[in-house]
Amino acid sequence: MFDLAAIARALGEEARRFDVDRLAVCDSTNAVLLARAEAGAPSGTVVVAETQTAGRGRRNRAWLSAPGDSLTFSLLWRFAPATAPVGLSLAVGVALAEALSKVGAGETALKWPNDLLKDGKKLGGILVELVPGTPHAAVIGIGLNLRLPAGMPAELRATSAALGIAGNPNRLLAALLTELRAVLETFAGAGFAPLRAAWMARHAFQDAPVTLLSDFAPPRVGVCRGVDDDGALCFESAGRVERILSGEISLRGAP
Ligand code: ATP
Repeated sequence: MFDLAAIARALGEEARRFDVDRLAVCDSTNAVLLARAEAGAPSGTVVVAETQTAGRGRRNRAWLSAPGDSLTFSLLWRFAPATAPVGLSLAVGVALAEALSKVGAGETALKWPNDLLKDGKKLGGILVELVPGTPHAAVIGIGLNLRLPAGMPAELRATSAALGIAGNPNRLLAALLTELRAVLETFAGAGFAPLRAAWMARHAFQDAPVTLLSDFAPPRVGVCRGVDDDGALCFESAGRVERILSGEISLRGAP
């Protein structure tokens, strides 16, 4: 499905910013790129997989993909030493949503901290992992459903969405990388703050009742007040707004 020459053509001038590698099969593009990052791969290194056999989500969850139906890739970005990329997965969400809009692939919404939604269902996931020993370098993993894989379990199918366009996947990848580069440069200069308004404009749960799920505590019901300049979730309950930075939490719309 992916062709390096076609990706480079679609990237045009941007091509020199990236070093793209295509793998027929790998366990997880994030795992491959983390290893390459530890071995010194430069910022802008990209790994795109036709088949991912053990795609990862947060907290060791699985990301399901199937050859031909999924766009799964990872991008390495090195920030200035001693900076912590706080709010990076939200910034990446902004880039994906804007790129999809620009290529006419439809409007998407964002769910804290790392999901891209279409019609309220999960179209894509983002997994940011920091490179061990170099915490200012991040591997940004992205999984997008082009079509829902035939083998997707019914329960997951019910909560998942697909782009459903027959567009060229090489051009789509190039458009995503181009937008990511622009957003990552903004983020590198000033953090999430300048991207917050764009995130809020696409926020799926603004002022809506939500439930917070955690592996370590009982569910909590409150109202979602968006995110702050650090990308922390602003969660209101009992008349008090709390900032939640932990990624160990899943958010759900509450009835
Ligand atoms: P949630 O999205 O449920 O709030 P999360 O953000 O922690 O939790 P992630 O780690 O981002 O979830 O993604 C993993 C989860 O995404 C899986 O547990 C599964 O429910 C769902 N998932 C896995 N593959 C796909 C897919 N191809 N399309 C949509 N959803 C998927």
